[in-house]
Amino acid sequence: MSPGRQNATHAEIVAALRQGHSNLRIARDLHCDKHRVARIRRELGIPNTPLQPLTLEEKWASKTRPVDGGHLEWTGERAKATGTPLMRYKGDTYSPAAIAFEKHHGRPARGYVKADCDYPHCVAPDHVNDTAARESDRLRTRAERGLGDIPATCVSGHSMSKHAKFKADGTAYCGRCKVLDKRAQRDPSAPRRIRLLPTSVDEAFARHAEPAEDGHIRWTGRTSHTTPTVSFANTVHSAYKIAFRIEHGREPEGTVTSRCDMPYCVAAAHLEDRPMRQDRRQQERRARQQERKLDRLYARIFGSAA
Ligand SMILES: [Zn+2]
Ligand SMILES: [Zn+2]
Ligand SMILES: [Zn+2]
Repeated sequence: MSPGRQNATHAEIVAALRQGHSNLRIARDLHCDKHRVARIRRELGIPNTPLQPLTLEEKWASKTRPVDGGHLEWTGERAKATGTPLMRYKGDTYSPAAIAFEKHHGRPARGYVKADCDYPHCVAPDHVNDTAARESDRLRTRAERGLGDIPATCVSGHSMSKHAKFKADGTAYCGRCKVLDKRAQRDPSAPRRIRLLPTSVDEAFARHAEPAEDGHIRWTGRTSHTTPTVSFANTVHSAYKIAFRIEHGREPEGTVTSRCDMPYCVAAAHLEDRPMRQDRRQQERRARQQERKLDRLYARIFGSAA
């Protein structure tokens, strides 16, 4: 055998062909001419090895990269206009998010699959949802927040039993209004739908504050992380701060936090700003000191007798 293996033997090439390798791979491994490999393949009648030896899932996995926060970045092809990941496999185009969904749920996705996390176009199997899973997640969040029945009609009078859609925080919106809004954006001459917008931030707040049992006030509006929020005049406000100001007649100092165990409750009696938090903590400290003092006193009086 020559040192550079410029000429693999016929038997070596046959053995490699029988192992199912491609012409290109054999030529590379054995350092021989790929046309010679192809000729021997034809002579022996061994069918060509497909160039795509990876399974669909293997190809998917080879195009993903883990990133901080448990997300999965798609490193493969993307749709030019939207940046949406896509994957070609054996002549078909697949949604990498849909493959991720099936991997996690063990069933094919129904409807549009996308990630619910904040990483753009994430394809982590446990971060993606299809239309059906998204809807039931949102309805569960809605139930957990105690948001209850949806109104019969939206502010424009559309039937909500027909048009209601849900956001990730469980709040309902009118799908018909959304379609009309989009149409109006595209065509400024389209008739505008009549919507009675709140005229003040307090009114916007009041629309979503609903008295509940035990003095709680249930928040039916939007939320961001742990805070209920109100949008007014293109600004997002903390509903906690608005509730605080309405109750105390002054702007709060620092962050307003809730001490209530009902999520997003906006009852002013359950909220406190920074000075109130500091006062409470000081009182709690004093009470603890007093308790310790009494403990020591009792120990002096009764300790020796015990
Ligand atoms: Zn993610
Ligand atoms: Zn509507
Ligand atoms: Zn409360």
